[in-house]
Amino acid sequence: MRRPIVVGNWKMNMLISSSRKWVEELLNISDCAGTIDIVVAPPFTSISVVRQYLKGSKVLLAGQNLASIAEGAQTGEISANMLKDAGCDYVILGHSERRQYQQESDGLINKKIFLACQSGLNVILCIGESMGERNSGKTNDVIERQLTACLEGLSEDQLNSLSIAYEPIWAIGTGNTANPNQVQDVHGFIRSWCEKSIGKSLSRVTRILYGGSVNSQSSPALMAQPDVDGLLVGGASLRSKSFYDIIKSSF
Ligand code: PEP
Repeated sequence: MRRPIVVGNWKMNMLISSSRKWVEELLNISDCAGTIDIVVAPPFTSISVVRQYLKGSKVLLAGQNLASIAEGAQTGEISANMLKDAGCDYVILGHSERRQYQQESDGLINKKIFLACQSGLNVILCIGESMGERNSGKTNDVIERQLTACLEGLSEDQLNSLSIAYEPIWAIGTGNTANPNQVQDVHGFIRSWCEKSIGKSLSRVTRILYGGSVNSQSSPALMAQPDVDGLLVGGASLRSKSFYDIIKSSF
């Protein structure tokens, strides 16, 4: 019922030449046509070349962020419409690195989600707790607070295009993948929050991804959990082969 999804987040990596090479290598290994959604989120400067080289394949494009207003005097920002125009179907919002280094609040992320929906982009909303919050038993409180504030005021129609990525901050880029039981516990909590807050039928179709040091060894057991519908992959997506190994080992 929920189509699995794997998203590669390149963050601030890859020049135009390496982006092009990545796509060529990936499509050499496989045409990536299948029963799952494969999405890649290059830096803004590589979106155009990745789109060009992906032409004819089923791999979809995502932006890593967008501006909190629709257009105008915001030097250095990229709008939701610009991402859509550049060929993106998805956007990653609320990543913990943006919360930490750009001080993005849940309120700001909420604004961005509205703009993304208006432009027809599918949103991948990232949420997750720090190690300190986990150790003091606050994981579910953090998750609930982030979901409530980030999704406030969204209509059923807008929520239809939403996926949620659970990314514990302590697992991102550390090599400490959360274990499958920890992941299922939180994903189960997110699913029940959705059921209670946005309704049974939407909660059944909302995809919940896990992200945090995923590789091809950890991905099968993670994907085997009943409430894990996909993976958000950072470091291991930078090489086309390791990204594809994750896809191949998980489905
Ligand atoms: C991420 O930053 O979204 C992420 C999952 O990174 P990594 O896979 O490198 O932990």
